[in-house]
Amino acid sequence: MKRRVSILGVTGSIGQNTLRVIEAAGQDAPEVVAVTGHANIPALAEAARRLDAEVAVTADPERLEDLRAALAGTRIEAAAGEAALVEAACRPVDWVMSAIVGAAGLAPTLAAARTGATIALANKECLVAAGDLFLAEMARSNATLLPVDSEHNALFQLTASERAPIERLILTASGGPFRNRTRDEMARVTVAEAVAHPNWSMGARISIDSASMFNKALEMIEARHLFAVDPDRIEVIVHPQSIVHSMVGYADGSILAHLGPADMRVAIGHALAWPDRRALAVERLDFAALARLDFEAPDPARFPALGLARAAMARGGVAGCVLNGAREIALDAFISGHIGFLAMAGLVETAMERLDGWPAATDLDDIFAADREARRVGAALVARFAA
Ligand code: NAD
Ligand code: MG
Repeated sequence: MKRRVSILGVTGSIGQNTLRVIEAAGQDAPEVVAVTGHANIPALAEAARRLDAEVAVTADPERLEDLRAALAGTRIEAAAGEAALVEAACRPVDWVMSAIVGAAGLAPTLAAARTGATIALANKECLVAAGDLFLAEMARSNATLLPVDSEHNALFQLTASERAPIERLILTASGGPFRNRTRDEMARVTVAEAVAHPNWSMGARISIDSASMFNKALEMIEARHLFAVDPDRIEVIVHPQSIVHSMVGYADGSILAHLGPADMRVAIGHALAWPDRRALAVERLDFAALARLDFEAPDPARFPALGLARAAMARGGVAGCVLNGAREIALDAFISGHIGFLAMAGLVETAMERLDGWPAATDLDDIFAADREARRVGAALVARFAA
């Protein structure tokens, strides 16, 4: 029997890499059930055709007719809207790639998890916003969670066969395009400069988050939940070559590192083949050509997002959810030119302070409520931080 899989967010950077990994699998390629996208209907229809999917869903109800037209002459079902997204995510499959960007990925990922499918999790916002409640839901559904974020996939590989407690988790960060810029220069950078990541080719939003290190901030919180370690055991080190994808330290002084090319197909392929490993036609590292690997401490003054992640972890409750919701609003405001690059962290910090007393979540509805409130407060703050 062939394995059956679905891809949430097939039109994005992770989604397209997942498509490439599946196409390259040849005889071993799984059957594709559902694929989902949002605004880019031609890309969604093309992915559905290439993968011969059962159903294609756009999150935007206004684009259903376009999707139907783009799928004319095929037997692929077309659907649209949030309810259709959740319905498609519920179709029985063995494995689901969760690669929608932002907290919008939470509801469909939870729906997929409730079927008991293995969840390949690229969408880090699920863990940042819903944390332990998300994990509890996964456990209740008997769903297997496989991290796809490259650092967490690396840590998963490094810790899988260890029984000893983790002493340190060391997340590597490229430092992004502004690693060597001054604070004054960073205050004036453009969206185009922020999107231009030196090592990784990713979606626009995560690329900007990498430039501000909000991405690493989310990843610290993601790691805390995935590996159940105290926040003070989570370290971040800047490693400009993006060859070491993360490291784990044990009590005997041993540090294990995961190395590989800066290519998301490695983590995606690992999650798809797990617990086996399958060959992937990615670049092989040439250490003589690399010659050196550099490491440096991140500068907290130029990358305040890292401190905000520590504050959110110390506060607990819905602080991660608030950090994430406000960050999504701040990112929109930067992309649309309303606030400057450094103002994103200021806005998020203020929103976190305003919502400091917000009650802890007891269920997922509380998470959705805190997310909405963080966005409302964040949006109200945009004018105050306007460029
Ligand atoms: P992307 O922007 O390239 O793609 C996002 C996908 O989400 C698209 O398919 C889009 O149609 C869909 N989408 C956007 N808004 C939506 C909405 N409101 N409702 C439903 N679907 C919506 O993003 P990406 O770079 O592929 O990242 C996807 C996720 O994976 C993010 O959570 C990101 O943090 C994480 N991630 C990405 C990378 C990477 O290399 N790109 C690496 C690690 C983790
Ligand atoms: Mg990452």
